[in-house]
Amino acid sequence: MSKKNAHAPVAVEASNAGPAEKYEGIITAAFGRHYEVLLPDGRHITGFPRGKKSPYACGDRVALEVASADQAQITRHLPRTSLLYRSDDYREKLIAANATQVVLVVATEPSFTDDLLARTLVAAEVEGLRTLIVLNKADLNEHLAQARERLAMLAKLGYRIIELSAKEDASALLPYLAGEISVLVGQSGMGKSTLTNSLIPEARAATREISEALDSGKHTTTYARLYELPQEQASGGKLIDCPGLQEFGLSHLSFGQLEEGFVDFRPHSGHCRFRDCRHQNEPDCAIKAAVEAGQIEPKRYELFHRIAGAKC
Ligand code: GDP
Ligand code: ZN
Repeated sequence: MSKKNAHAPVAVEASNAGPAEKYEGIITAAFGRHYEVLLPDGRHITGFPRGKKSPYACGDRVALEVASADQAQITRHLPRTSLLYRSDDYREKLIAANATQVVLVVATEPSFTDDLLARTLVAAEVEGLRTLIVLNKADLNEHLAQARERLAMLAKLGYRIIELSAKEDASALLPYLAGEISVLVGQSGMGKSTLTNSLIPEARAATREISEALDSGKHTTTYARLYELPQEQASGGKLIDCPGLQEFGLSHLSFGQLEEGFVDFRPHSGHCRFRDCRHQNEPDCAIKAAVEAGQIEPKRYELFHRIAGAKC
């Protein structure tokens, strides 16, 4: 399910009340107390929030009053169409606002975790975002078959999966990005920076090689950043590159939302004898019955309980 929206920033008419120029813009990077904002004319400006709160995420649309050539005050937060975030028991971490699609990068090697993959898909489903899985490093044959096999279960559920080698040619991804605001997520090491660099030449999302060359030993994508994609191949597309994830906490989701995020559970949801069924040992559980009937993969059922574990 995708929510289609007009997300292009539009200039609003200049105010009659004062000399300050008023714009709507889109946040391309959030640095905590200040933001990089893309204006409708293609310029980037530094935006400062009013007051102490700075609740904005990369991709947020805001109204601004331009104060000088390169600075502006953020005066209003424009409505969000989606908000992707993760959380643990202590805090929430905004990932991106107004995205229409999540592009999840996995690789033939190093091995990706099913748990993180499932959690990301759940978060996307709950926000109503489209999803696309990219199997990167398809040139590394040794583990290709195995990676494909692991993803086959998700393909069967209807998830779109494409294979490519970001190192050789990432252009196969571009048509999928046209007209979408895509959030690029993945475990570190999957080749996300290589992919971003290949799609967006000016992106300075340095690859690990670069950071290693600088001897920092640390991956350099430490905050989310929004890029405009090349018009010719991905018209109107924007890409939000996120720091590599090692975990995707879903403690902000209710048990019911988690269940909704498992697309294979949906046809059976609400058919258990008990309305508050946790799909464990209750009698007449429609989810367990579906597992036994081969309609839900046992692996997915186990994964669901592993993720739900903290909530039960
Ligand atoms: P990130 O942590 O997800 O941003 O991953 P990087 O882009 O830094 O890539 C991790 C490592 O995988 C680097 O050594 C890349 O050169 C390598 N890599 C990325 N894409 C490919 C690919 O398509 N094929 C191969 N063979 N290696 C790749
Ligand atoms: Zn049940």
